[in-house]
Amino acid sequence: MIIVFRKDATNKEVDDLIQRIEKLGLKAMVSRGTERTIIGVIGPEDIIRLQPLEIYPGVDKVMQVLTPYKLVSRDFKREPSVVKIKEGIEIGGKKIIVIAGPCSIESKEQLFEIAKKVKAAGAEILRGGAFKPRSSPYTFQGLGEEGLKILKEASQKVGIATATEVMDTRDVGLVAKYADILQVGARNMQNFNLLKEIGQIKKPVILKRGLSATIKELLMSAEYILSEGNFNVILCERGIRTFEDFTRNTLDISAVPSIKMLSHLPVIVDPSHATGKRGLVEPLSKASIAAGADGLLIEVHNNPKEALSDGPQQLLPEGFLSLMQNLKGIANCLDREI
Ligand code: PEP
Ligand code: MN
Repeated sequence: MIIVFRKDATNKEVDDLIQRIEKLGLKAMVSRGTERTIIGVIGPEDIIRLQPLEIYPGVDKVMQVLTPYKLVSRDFKREPSVVKIKEGIEIGGKKIIVIAGPCSIESKEQLFEIAKKVKAAGAEILRGGAFKPRSSPYTFQGLGEEGLKILKEASQKVGIATATEVMDTRDVGLVAKYADILQVGARNMQNFNLLKEIGQIKKPVILKRGLSATIKELLMSAEYILSEGNFNVILCERGIRTFEDFTRNTLDISAVPSIKMLSHLPVIVDPSHATGKRGLVEPLSKASIAAGADGLLIEVHNNPKEALSDGPQQLLPEGFLSLMQNLKGIANCLDREI
């Protein structure tokens, strides 16, 4: 259920109703927009339905949300959400944010070199996996905490924000200590315990769409994080599995405007994992921006031929620089910056 306050509702009126909701054993999630304050009431549907909340002072209307995701939906919040990563870096605003870096953090030298180059080319955020969700247990699994330390050092040395994947509930605190953004990978999109744990902290999260997940399932997974109190969620389309096997996955470009229609959360696209092919990263980056993406996640490696994971899809730093230059025109004609 969503409670929309009148424009002239006072803070006291809002606080009184929050208290009332909490006394009933329900959760009140508050969104204080520029225009109006909205409360999402979370809890057993039957208790909620029996409450005559419209009679409270300051309340304009009470709406039942029919979708299974509520806090994530456009009904809960009309204006698009902007997730603040750090001072001066926001995802969901006019500027398209590019997150770039290697698939895996392999060494200090490797990450430092890539960090310098992607920053110089215009990336705002450095990515790199320390905990790797590999399909085979016999392939490189990541450097773990050692990798996180390298990521933090590179971030401080180069002056760039960071994003890295967390795979296990036990590592949420650890990863949050080192990185600015936590990434939930495609394979963990429905790891509900992990989502709940991440919901307890306030760090920004990139939630990637599962390999075979529908848009509705992605939004319900995001709801797990928001319902625990963390609204700093960025959704990521990274390709889904179809019968097509020329590309590693099929980039569902329609997911970008579809998610924007259904949800207020920012959406980014990962054309690297979507295609698995270096040569397709640029055209699909352009298509993603044209479809309304708020950012891109792109794998870049200084020596892709010898990369410990995902070599064929990683751009060389020079390729990344030229991509960034080629994206400017398309961003500008959509009245966005990159
Ligand atoms: C990644 O971004 O490092 C990754 C493993 O991607 P995905 O979860 O989309 O496969
Ligand atoms: Mn990868």
